[in-house]
Amino acid sequence: MNPLEREIRALIETQGPLSVSRYMALCLAHPEYGYYVTRDPFGAGGDFTTAPEISQMFGELAGIWCAEVWRRMGSPSRVALVEAGPGRGTLMKDALRAAKVLPGFLDAIELHLVETSPLLQERQREALHGVVPSIAWHGEVSTLPDDAPLIVIGNEFIDALPVDQFEKKAGRWHERKIGLGADGGFAFGLDPAPLLNFERELPERLTPAPDGAIFERRKLAPLAPMLARIAAHGGAALFVDYGHAESGFGDTLQAVQGHDYAEPLESPGEADLTSQVDFEALTKLATGAVRAFGPVSQRKFLCELGIEARTEILQRHATPAMRDEIGTALTRLTGPAPGMGELFKALAFAHRALAALPGFDGARVSGGASRT
Ligand code: SAH
Repeated sequence: MNPLEREIRALIETQGPLSVSRYMALCLAHPEYGYYVTRDPFGAGGDFTTAPEISQMFGELAGIWCAEVWRRMGSPSRVALVEAGPGRGTLMKDALRAAKVLPGFLDAIELHLVETSPLLQERQREALHGVVPSIAWHGEVSTLPDDAPLIVIGNEFIDALPVDQFEKKAGRWHERKIGLGADGGFAFGLDPAPLLNFERELPERLTPAPDGAIFERRKLAPLAPMLARIAAHGGAALFVDYGHAESGFGDTLQAVQGHDYAEPLESPGEADLTSQVDFEALTKLATGAVRAFGPVSQRKFLCELGIEARTEILQRHATPAMRDEIGTALTRLTGPAPGMGELFKALAFAHRALAALPGFDGARVSGGASRT
C-alpha cells in the first residue's frame, strides 16, 4: 500500500466516503504524494504524450494564435500572457519562438505560468531560461494580474481539474462516492441521500434521464478569475483538450500509466487521472462581456492556422527520416482516432470587442450579453 493510499483510507475511515473530485484532487495534487508533484509524466519514457511533446508545430501555432489575437486587440503595449498547466514548458518555448514573427508582441508580454507542481515549475524554468526576461509563477489563478488584458492558453489543463459524478438509481439522483469495498480496497458507491432537483441542472434534451445514467460535473472554478479579468480588461483564452462537444451521460474517469490504461482506484497518485471535458458545460461560463467560440475539432483548428503549410516547410529542410517523423506527427495531431484530430477540441473565450478569432472561422459563438 502506498502512503497516499494509507492517507485516503484513514480519511474514509474518519470522514466517510470521499467525493470523486476530492479523490481526484488528492491523487493529482496532494502536496507530498500527488501525481504531478512527484514526477514529470510526459513523453516516451513517461506515462503519456501531449500535443506539444509530439511536435514543435503545436506550440508554434499556439504562439501564432496568441500573437494574432494580440494584433486584433489593437496591439496593446502591455498584455499578460498566461499559460495554465504548462507541463514541461515545451508549448510556451515553441510559442514564443514562433510569435517573433509579429513585431512588438514579445516586448508587450508579461509571462505568467499557472502551475501547482514545484517539480514542473522547475522544468518550465529550465525550458524557458533566457527566452523571456522574467516569468511569474502562480500556484493558483487568483493571483494573476488584474490590471492588464489577458491572453490565456491551456492544453490538457481542464481534463485534470477534478470532477464529481452523479448517478440515477430507482428514479432518483445520488452522488457517487469512493469508500471501502468488501475486499478492503477502494470502491465506488452511492451516497444514500438522494439529490433534490438535480435533473434541473442538465440540458433539457437529456431529461428525463434513464436509470443508471452517470453525469459528470467538473469543478471549473479555476477558470472564473481568468474570464473575469478578460471581461474587465479585454483579451482571450484558448483551451485545447479531449472531450465531447455536447453534454452527455457516462463515466469517463480514466487512469493512464506507462502509456496504458490503469485502474482509477488502484495505486492513487501513481497514474494520471483525467476525465473527458464537457465542452457544452464550458461554453456556459461565457457571460457578460465574454463570449465562447467553438468547440471546433483540433484538426479544424490546426489546419486553419496552417499546420499543413508548416509541415511542408519543416519537411523541406529535413533528412528523409525526419521528414517521415514530421508527417507522422501531422497525422497524430490532426487525424481521426487513434489520432487526436477529432477527439481533441479547441474552445476559446474572448472579450466581446474581438469579433472573430483565428482558428474559429464559422464556429458557433455563444454566451455573453449583447450589450452591457
Ligand atoms: N500543457 C502541458 C501539460 C498538460 S498536463 C502539455 O500539453 O504538455 C496538466 C498540467 O496542468 C500539468 O502541468 C499539471 O501540473 C498542471 N495542473 C493540473 N491541475 C492544476 C491546477 N489545478 N492548477 C494549476 N496547474 C495544474
